[in-house]
Amino acid sequence: MSQFARCSTSNYKFGAHISTAGGISKSVTNAYNIGCNAFAMFLKSPRKWVSPSYSQDEIDQFKANCKELGYDPLTDVLPHGQYFINLANPEHEKAEKSYVSFLDDLRRCEQLGIGLYNFHPGSSLKADHETQLKQLASYINKAHTETKFVKIVLENMAGTGTLVGSDLSDLKKVIEMVDDKTRVGVCIDTCHTFAAGYDISTRQAFDDFWAEFDKIVGFKYLSAIHLNDSKAPLAANRDLHEKLGEGFLGLEVFKLVTQADFLRGIPIILETPQPQDEGYGDEIKLLEWLENFSEDTHLSEFDLKSQNLQENGSKSRKEQSAKFDKKTLKKNAKSTKKRPKDAETDIAKQLGAKRVKSDQR
Ligand SMILES: [Zn+2]
Ligand SMILES: [Zn+2]
Repeated sequence: MSQFARCSTSNYKFGAHISTAGGISKSVTNAYNIGCNAFAMFLKSPRKWVSPSYSQDEIDQFKANCKELGYDPLTDVLPHGQYFINLANPEHEKAEKSYVSFLDDLRRCEQLGIGLYNFHPGSSLKADHETQLKQLASYINKAHTETKFVKIVLENMAGTGTLVGSDLSDLKKVIEMVDDKTRVGVCIDTCHTFAAGYDISTRQAFDDFWAEFDKIVGFKYLSAIHLNDSKAPLAANRDLHEKLGEGFLGLEVFKLVTQADFLRGIPIILETPQPQDEGYGDEIKLLEWLENFSEDTHLSEFDLKSQNLQENGSKSRKEQSAKFDKKTLKKNAKSTKKRPKDAETDIAKQLGAKRVKSDQR
């Protein structure tokens, strides 16, 4: 009997990114043992371009485990692609190499009966951003013709500029260029969202973000959530996940998630820095507690939990804050230094001109 019973009364598919030690079919039992209603995993080694294919036994076992433990692989499993896949890479050879691994992942999904596949949309590097978005979309179109049913889910990113998906409009543009729109979706990572500069830490900010998401991308494309707190402050552009409630987001946003009707029915996956899968078991129980939160009876308990978690993360937040301040200072110093002397004289001239003008009244 598992220590973390699976919650059948929850309206949400809370789960986590699970270890596949012992084979892909083990991910199902591992997920079950920590009380997941949905789960994520890597389909092969996240560090190698090529991995051995699954045996028929392993495929059968995965499907049998899903059936026995009550997971529908079409809707409850959200594998994560390898980080080094970059379909937006302007270097043809590298993009092609990425595509081979990407397609291999999609085929693995279909072998296992999995209906969703999440990956990082990559980077345009030094090339023209719009051109590389087009390339990414054409690879997705190609992958659709070479597979049957798996939905390709683009994750939003924490960085700026060349990183595809830090701006919601990138995701919209890619989806617009995809032919089969029934097989493309978006995964919103709460840490990436915050780090990219979209505040979601208060009720107002959370509501505003989702209104903007709906306007730019559209709720119908929302296919999954990655649920992480952020070690780095708002707009720091750092992809640093933190345990729920210990980072700059704080516990409030996770309470809002458990009360957002539009997040029912899609995988909500924890990727917090837990040394063991059991840590996720505790966080899933915390989410289920938040789902049943009532202002009248739980407010003081919530405040206490929230304070304790913030306390746990305070040292790390202080360190990251200092780093962020230092970086911002450096950036500002650079931009002052970079400003040509002429510009300063121009400004002086402009001011002078203005003064002259106003004096001429
Ligand atoms: Zn990711
Ligand atoms: Zn993520």
